[in-house]
Amino acid sequence: MTMKTLKNLIALLILLLINITFETKAQTERWQQAIKYDIDVKMDVQNNQYQGTQIIEYTNNSPDTLHRVFFHLYYNAFQPNSMMDVRSRTIADPDKRVGDRISKLRSDEIGYLRVNSLALDGITLDFEQVGTILEVNLHEPILPHATVIFHSEFEGQVPLQVRRSGRDSKEGIRYSMSQWYPKMANYDEQGWHAQPYIGREFYGVWGDFNVKITIDKSYVLGGTGYLQNPNEIGHGYQEEGVKVNSPEGKELTWHFYAPKVHDFMWAADPNYTHDKIPMENGITIHHLYVKNSETESNWEKLKEYTPRAIQYMSERFGQYPYKQFSVIQGGDGGMEYPMSTLITGHRPLNSLVGVMVHELAHSWFHGVLATNEGLYPWMDEGFATFATNLTMAEIFNRSESSESPHAGTYVSYFRLAKSGLEEPLATPSDHFHTNTAYGAAAYSKGAVFLVQLGYIIGEENRDKGMLRYWNTWQYRHPNPNDFIRIMEQESGLELDWYKEYWMYSTKSIDYGVKSVEEGSNGTTQIILERIGLMPMPIDLVITYKDGNKEMVYLPLVMQRGEKPLEDGLPNRTITQRWPWTNPTKEIILEKPKNSIQSIEIDPSGRMADINMENNKIEF
Ligand SMILES: [Zn+2]
Repeated sequence: MTMKTLKNLIALLILLLINITFETKAQTERWQQAIKYDIDVKMDVQNNQYQGTQIIEYTNNSPDTLHRVFFHLYYNAFQPNSMMDVRSRTIADPDKRVGDRISKLRSDEIGYLRVNSLALDGITLDFEQVGTILEVNLHEPILPHATVIFHSEFEGQVPLQVRRSGRDSKEGIRYSMSQWYPKMANYDEQGWHAQPYIGREFYGVWGDFNVKITIDKSYVLGGTGYLQNPNEIGHGYQEEGVKVNSPEGKELTWHFYAPKVHDFMWAADPNYTHDKIPMENGITIHHLYVKNSETESNWEKLKEYTPRAIQYMSERFGQYPYKQFSVIQGGDGGMEYPMSTLITGHRPLNSLVGVMVHELAHSWFHGVLATNEGLYPWMDEGFATFATNLTMAEIFNRSESSESPHAGTYVSYFRLAKSGLEEPLATPSDHFHTNTAYGAAAYSKGAVFLVQLGYIIGEENRDKGMLRYWNTWQYRHPNPNDFIRIMEQESGLELDWYKEYWMYSTKSIDYGVKSVEEGSNGTTQIILERIGLMPMPIDLVITYKDGNKEMVYLPLVMQRGEKPLEDGLPNRTITQRWPWTNPTKEIILEKPKNSIQSIEIDPSGRMADINMENNKIEF
């Protein structure tokens, strides 16, 4: 070896080392853009139009120079022939709430959001409005690590409520104000995400919102953010014992501040009843609803469930991080926003609690972890569904019930898998061919992903992994790979195969007990077969006529290890790896066939086997 080759070798080694260090860093220290919004808006409740100014402080924490920026102008979706309108009318199974309603909106019923002026550091910018996106070319690029100030003036008209946001909902709520301001699109390690608004799912930049809303004095407001001037406002927001000192004039300015959120929603109605429910740990819950015979009794009862749900989810998934959560009657079903939710209010108690719990669960997965829902809706909707199932079982004291809290979710996934409509879970949310395929994939198949993960790595590992996920990835927009890496680290198992099959393919699971034969010398030969195209580890439980049980555990070779013993499962007597390439697997039991009562694949039912009929043989 010459001196030169040695030097080259050393240089290569150093490079490799640097690379490794960078890669580890990249995984744990992913950069995030940062934003501060200062919004001042005045609402005219006669014509449902508003005018605002917006000052944005934007910090480019990326290593890239930005030559363009993008803003979402969601309300432009509510106009005849918008992308959302055309899509809603032409999709095979339209959302009943939308259908052709957008195409029929009159000029005073459409929504719009227009930016009238935009400047960067005082210099006026040119921009082009393309549907729901404002495309802005910058004269001077934003350099890496630079902070710039955007100043804009905008005006909007609140659409008659069609989907999520809007005025005069079916239940008569005046304003459900979500997606209402020019919202900066997010730029992350995968580039810009200037998704046009077609109907579903959101993504945003982490930041602080300082929002002043001036509106007719008769209105009561709620939403994202802590009210900064409660003693001027009253309506139950004022501090205890304080006499409300409302300024003169017909209008009031509500000043909200919301730190560390990626969106800001508000709602307003003159008839809202405001219930304030303090929790012991300093969180205040706000309920806002219009009291009538359909709401009165159930919203009163809801006061017991919201704090219990926050408490339980904080224990399971990480401490709820804000000081406030507001459940507000509005919208058209249930929709999550930071620190708050809009839900319809005319519901039986079980449904009212169910929708509150589901939207609250989003506080973890949409609000604080905040994966890009446009790309990975299942990491939000699916995980929220999983959390909803567990929380509902807990707060309605169903945890002792023999039925799994996820039973309905599995039924929905099985229906999808057999429907012929299934598309890969990795499909971007707006691009699923049908609403049915989107819903069942994002909500049900996404939730099954987590329940089944508990089967693969053990529930204790999964549950610890969920907390580790929260601690590691909060406020950082994790992607599927980040999630599965956490679960690999927690369990010590290799799990990429599970994520890849579940997310990118529509292959399904079907294992069966193929045969059970008398072996030589009083043994029994069992043959299992893999019929479905997706491989899985197998828990096989043998029940003997004397009542004893044993478990044969067949981990996949490629998972490179075993899950720990789990509570509630019989003693593991045999562990044999099963290579996925082998369609069948032979197991020899050291007991005669006539001593066996039954042989069953995964009695826990957590493995999403689409044909359970061949899973059990009884003698
Ligand atoms: Zn949801």
